[in-house]
Amino acid sequence: MYKEDCIFCKIVQKKISANIVYEDELCLGFKDINPVTPVHILFIPKKHITSLDEVYEEDVNLIGHVLLNISKYARKEGLVERGYRVVNNIGKDAGQSVFHIHFHLLAGRRFSWPPG
Ligand code: 5GP
Ligand code: ZN
Repeated sequence: MYKEDCIFCKIVQKKISANIVYEDELCLGFKDINPVTPVHILFIPKKHITSLDEVYEEDVNLIGHVLLNISKYARKEGLVERGYRVVNNIGKDAGQSVFHIHFHLLAGRRFSWPPG
């Protein structure tokens, strides 16, 4: 379930602190330590999964649960009218730096497309 040297597993286990904005039995949402937008929350499954590349059939409901709770959180926080972006980085070219799957919820300013 947890990986010894994983920083997000440590946050799940409350071994290191984070500013948690959402929690249930399966997932966690917390503020990014280095926000790049006015609203920058990371949503993760509590289960250690390295990236989307390691999501298998058994995890489909879990990942769906995480995404649904991002949507519920965004609605609760009034982010829907202006819009928001959900980002999941996989591997080197995408700039993944923490290898516990996480979805960035970004909001509060206008985003460009295509991404940099
Ligand atoms: P990635 O680049 O892997 O998509 O995103 C990793 C994110 O995790 C980065 O935005 C980084 O600021 C954030 N992060 C890394 N370590 C910590 C931490 O210990 N606490 C929190 N709250 N965020 C972290
Ligand atoms: Zn982990």
